[in-house]
Amino acid sequence: EAPAAPPSSDSSKGVENLVIVGSGPAGYTAAIYAARANLKPVVFEGYQVGGVPGGQLMTTTEVENFPGFPEGITGPDLMDRMRKQAERWGAELHQEDVEFVNVKSSPFVIRSSDREVKCHSVIIATGATAKRLRLPREDEFWSRGISACAICDGASPLFKGQVLAVVGGGDTATEEAIYLTKYARHVHLLVRKDQLRASKAMQDRVLNNPNITVHFNTEAMDVVSNDKGQMSGIQLKRTDTGEESVLEVKGLFYGIGHTPNSQLLQGQIELDSAGYILVKEGSAKTSVDGVFAAGDVQDHEWRQAVTAAGSGCIAALSVERYLVAND
Ligand code: FAD
Repeated sequence: EAPAAPPSSDSSKGVENLVIVGSGPAGYTAAIYAARANLKPVVFEGYQVGGVPGGQLMTTTEVENFPGFPEGITGPDLMDRMRKQAERWGAELHQEDVEFVNVKSSPFVIRSSDREVKCHSVIIATGATAKRLRLPREDEFWSRGISACAICDGASPLFKGQVLAVVGGGDTATEEAIYLTKYARHVHLLVRKDQLRASKAMQDRVLNNPNITVHFNTEAMDVVSNDKGQMSGIQLKRTDTGEESVLEVKGLFYGIGHTPNSQLLQGQIELDSAGYILVKEGSAKTSVDGVFAAGDVQDHEWRQAVTAAGSGCIAALSVERYLVAND
């Protein structure tokens, strides 16, 4: 279908239609839709993850569940394709972090170290960051034995049929442990405290599952490797007695939560208690007219590339309607 007629642009007065903050699947999908609708979006891609744009998938190897790639695709390749698609339709991309946002009065002001942009609407697609344990050998084994996403990686050949461990005692960790039992030979759940924080229903499911062993008062200290440099186990320490041991596992999953990258908006739009941007159900609308949010920064539940991309699409289409209605 042909793109809709563009709303009249104000850029002659130095006010852009739309700024998109973030370059994960949500930001680039929003950029593709907005650019195709002739909104001439200005995208601040950021460089927070590894000094490159592209978001969380830049830190992974194979992505096996993004539709359209039956053989799988590497995270960086997928993000590079999304970036090129946004560029092809004329999105203006800047590899800069946004340092300041003012959405308290219109036009909104977005500022990076290199430029200030005024705009009528904003899509915040700054993602979330998986919390890490900061184990001494974590970087060495990230995506090579350590993962923060069971749904993404559980079925990969690295983990399938193996004995695995999950760290955490809340809903995320218990869900990851249960999910992993579909593929793993056995799952160990490592819980620092002497009890689980997860809901009663999740606790029951974990404690009654013969394929999950729960280790209370237990902390992961580091990765242990074999002579081929592969993960062979986890160094453990009991938090009550200090006793140390090695648990033989081939994979370690972090289920200790995520931090949404919403600090820029703090005090300006409504966030939930964990810092996720609150959107009106089934939409990308935030508590401020003209400010939309997409992807993991507003989603503590699904956290997938395809759901982030879907919400980026919704955000861009919502901006288009908003600009037409307010023209
Ligand atoms: P992100 O990908 O988090 O991108 C956010 C972007 O915003 C980044 O580019 C960041 O630099 C930028 N940003 C942040 N702050 C600023 C700022 N102030 N100014 C400018 N830019 C800023 N999902 C799957 O569906 N399949 C998988 O196989 C899969 N594997 C994964 C493997 C790993 C290791 C991880 C960590 C995640 C994986 N996920 C997977 C989850 C998936 O990556 C996320 O759900 C998805 O990337 C979320 O997209 P997003 O656009 O919301 O945000």
